[in-house]
Amino acid sequence: MNIPFVDLKAQYRTIQGEIDRAISEVIEDAAFVGGKYVERFEEAFALYCGAAHCVGVGNGTDALFLALRALGIREGDEVITVANSFIATSEAVTLAGGRVVFVDCDSSTYTIDCERVKKAITPRTRAIIPVHLYGLPAGMPELVRMAQDRGIYLIEDAAQAHGAEIQGRRIGTWGHIACFSFYPGKNLGAYGDGGAVVTNDKVLAGKVSLLSNHGRMSKYDHEIQGTNSRLDGIQAAILGVKLGYLDDWVARRREVARAYNELLNGSGIVLPKEKPGFRHVYHLYVVRVPNRDRVMEMLAKRGISTGIHYPVPLPLLKAYRHLRCRRGDFPVAERCAGEILSLPLFPELTVEKVTYICDALKEAISSL
Ligand SMILES: *Cc1c(COP(=O)(O)O)cnc(C)c1O
Repeated sequence: MNIPFVDLKAQYRTIQGEIDRAISEVIEDAAFVGGKYVERFEEAFALYCGAAHCVGVGNGTDALFLALRALGIREGDEVITVANSFIATSEAVTLAGGRVVFVDCDSSTYTIDCERVKKAITPRTRAIIPVHLYGLPAGMPELVRMAQDRGIYLIEDAAQAHGAEIQGRRIGTWGHIACFSFYPGKNLGAYGDGGAVVTNDKVLAGKVSLLSNHGRMSKYDHEIQGTNSRLDGIQAAILGVKLGYLDDWVARRREVARAYNELLNGSGIVLPKEKPGFRHVYHLYVVRVPNRDRVMEMLAKRGISTGIHYPVPLPLLKAYRHLRCRRGDFPVAERCAGEILSLPLFPELTVEKVTYICDALKEAISSL
């Protein structure tokens, strides 16, 4: 048995004809950068998120950076985010000139701890970036109340959570602006890099669009200095095809997660939580186990690939040594980092394989 962590080839095989046709069409039209395929996808994705506007950009990191720039984040502005995420979340803040303020996560959902956010707010706080980590929405209703009261911007890092919902409303419009990644392995993945921002604010969408395309109003009329971060036509056409399948794929991910939950129930392994009213889209299925590194090795011996998202909390990375954070500053994120294990999860994964994985995992735990 050989079970990969994700299987993008299996997914391609199920939609090969449509994808190949979509790519050919863009090439025949030579609509490589900008143009109707990008516009078509932006409209479709905005509609999917229930948002008024979507602007395609080069990748998810740029989506965050451009959102921060569009909101006017400047030197000295503080931006609060969570200690356990991918580095892109905090990188974007620094790139935009802001100061990252890390806070710990909640021990059962792994998303940002709203109580700790409240304590981290200062007069210099301009924005908060909650991350919908692993596909579970962060506590947006609470954060919205907190941010509204204080005039603070809310930027959703939705890179892992396309289609996730809170109280029946999709993520993407809970904050002022939401940032998506279409990195190939994400729930909605391109065949290369891609990203988007989504917002109900027309002015904000216009600013992101301007910044992402050299600040140009027309070919050589540059209103401001921006950058080059655009979604390309081939990626947009591919994403357009794949968007039509996203809900089915999310449903399959949830079925796989349910199978894991049932098979691992009572094993002593800490399973992912689903808060009432919060619809998890299971970008990742993350459990917590004792002796994680040994367990991972034992699973590898049985042909099962697993991952760790993420092994070191951001403030303790070398990249942030200048912040002088110490072990013990983020107790929840630190403890979780040593115990978390992401199990294989993709829409094409069969229940038979999930059963094999769970048997191997239970065996590994009991042999420790
Ligand atoms: C993937 C990811 C990003 C960055 O997206 P890229 O498209 O790879 O730049 C940002 N935040 C989180 C939480 C991610 O998982």
